[in-house]
Amino acid sequence: FLEGRRALVTGSTSGIGLAVARALHAEGAEIVLNGFGDESEIAELCEELGAKHSGADMTDTAAIEAMMEEHGPIDILVNNAGMQHVAPVEEFPVDKWEKILALNLGAAFHTIRLAVPHMKQQGWGRIINTASAHSKTASPFKTAYVAAKHGLDGLTKTVALELAESGVTANCISPGYVWTPLVENQIPDTMQARNMTRDEVMNDVLLAKQPTKRFVQPEEIGALAVFLCREEAGNVTGANWSVDGGWTAE
Ligand code: NAD
Repeated sequence: FLEGRRALVTGSTSGIGLAVARALHAEGAEIVLNGFGDESEIAELCEELGAKHSGADMTDTAAIEAMMEEHGPIDILVNNAGMQHVAPVEEFPVDKWEKILALNLGAAFHTIRLAVPHMKQQGWGRIINTASAHSKTASPFKTAYVAAKHGLDGLTKTVALELAESGVTANCISPGYVWTPLVENQIPDTMQARNMTRDEVMNDVLLAKQPTKRFVQPEEIGALAVFLCREEAGNVTGANWSVDGGWTAE
């Protein structure tokens, strides 16, 4: 049902973004991938999805502007690129703070401001922002990530209100822990920050948060993104959808 729609999914060479791109492609959308990685692997993904790829660094405003110019106009915008860093606030590296704010929050502002004119003009558009359970609740040692994701929720609600009468919706999807490189890579720092073993981090920090006691699957996020693109979801806007195994219900 998405034939003729062009979807840009930022951070889609891995993890959740890739699953969202695959799900939108399966419904017929034309896909623009974005993100870093091995060139031959990216070429394979482009082939699999009949997609174009932009290597734009989403912390770089000029690169975002060039990507939107080259690959626009965009009908479905999925702001998904993100990164994490785990450290106590007084030791939190300033450059990591700035990068996480730019990538997890600033990039969405830029893509949205550049995508909205076309969406408004055609009277249809979908903006889907991958936030996090950490857009609703906090955990220690994640100052930049929690601040950026709370900000992304606020950005999404504001945009939803501005576009409410235009046929364009804006929503957040907020996963709990999804088994992707982003989660795997934070295990060593979390072991250090909390003085725990790997197994303790997995069970007592990560899965302890999720009453279902299982990681969210990237495909579960893809399926929700597809639903948000349906006509039946036209009145769903400004919402922040948890897919977190009950984490934020506690
Ligand atoms: P991932 O590390 O598997 O993928 C991140 C993607 O972003 C990759 O494609 C990477 O190349 C790209 N990327 C990184 N820096 C970039 C940059 N500067 N410019 C452009 N692309 C860049 O991570 P993931 O777990 O799939 O995370 C995707 C999103 O989901 C993030 O916003 C993350 O915060 C969010 N999220 C993840 C989880 C989880 O448990 N994995 C939970 C909640 C929210």
